Amino acid sequence: MKVGIVGAMPQEIALLQRDMTVVRRQTRGMREYLEGRLYEKDAVLVFSRCAKVAAASTVTTLIEVFGVDLVIFTGVAGAVDPALGIGDVVIGNALVQHDLDTRPLFRRFEVPLLGEIAFEVPPAMLGLARRSAERYLHGPLHQDVPTEVLSAFGITGPPSLREGLIVSGDQFIADPGTLTDLRRALKSAGLPAPLCVEMEGAAVAQVCHEHGVPVIVMRTISDKADHSAAVDFVPFVERVASHFTSGIVRELITLV
Ligand code: SAH
Repeated sequence: MKVGIVGAMPQEIALLQRDMTVVRRQTRGMREYLEGRLYEKDAVLVFSRCAKVAAASTVTTLIEVFGVDLVIFTGVAGAVDPALGIGDVVIGNALVQHDLDTRPLFRRFEVPLLGEIAFEVPPAMLGLARRSAERYLHGPLHQDVPTEVLSAFGITGPPSLREGLIVSGDQFIADPGTLTDLRRALKSAGLPAPLCVEMEGAAVAQVCHEHGVPVIVMRTISDKADHSAAVDFVPFVERVASHFTSGIVRELITLV
């Protein structure tokens, strides 16, 4: 088993890099792939940069060149479900590219010639992700991130863990109007209400689907996709989400 771990921002993978025994570094297509041992498993760690093309090309290389058997994509996301707060964790059970629209040739959101709108994550992968996140959030999180830091970002209770639809597009959403339009469009396509929005997950899920490689997409809510989103999210990634990512991935890798 060789696990590929991808983060869209450097801070998201920095802590994992610290724990990794790097055997080889290789640069391809402007990405640096770190191969080695992580928590006693073979792993390849890479910073993909953000947005769909960056993530898709990085994951293609991970699969084709490095031969990973599982892709874990972690990062932050904006909440779409009003019940989600900063610091909550979302596991994608289905992923949709919300900016894909080739009507009238295909249905809105459909990936041309694949006949798919949503990429679904199999129950075994969801179970693995859920167990890892639960173990981290109920345990090591409290040693990693001091309560004062959590409360500085408005996280006062235990973070909740949800599974559901994640939507991805080449757009940083920081406006309630855009979010309302997006919710409406997804609903009229018969999709369930999305939990969160980000910029890579569904592209990664498509590549993994096309190569028959399992994928787990896991996100920590960094903002509410409203006007304050861009202000909140970088310090949050550095001080909180990076710990969530590395902690949950550590649990995950020990379980696979
Ligand atoms: N300049 C930044 C760019 C990050 S883009 C940098 O330091 O690299 C934002 C990242 O956070 C993307 O990887 C995206 O997946 C996620 N994200 C968080 N909140 C989001 C939101 N409200 N809308 C879209 N993507 C969001």
